[in-house]
Amino acid sequence: MTKKIIVDKELCIGCGACVNLCPGIFELDSDGKSSVIIEKGCGQCDCEGAINSCPVGAIKIVEE
Ligand code: SF4
Repeated sequence: MTKKIIVDKELCIGCGACVNLCPGIFELDSDGKSSVIIEKGCGQCDCEGAINSCPVGAIKIVEE
């Protein structure tokens, strides 16, 4: 099973919180919404900070 970070673009409001917290993992796309650059994360944490920083709960971790 591999961990994969996903952003639900339907929920994302483009606040930039996840990008500010983890700029190597998330970036704001041309549509103004977050997209995941490195789906497996940085390996430092389980993305709790980014998940908790999102005001709309758009960041999730799935196992594949
Ligand atoms: Fe989008 Fe959530 Fe990231 Fe803000 S913190 S840019 S709402 S995914």
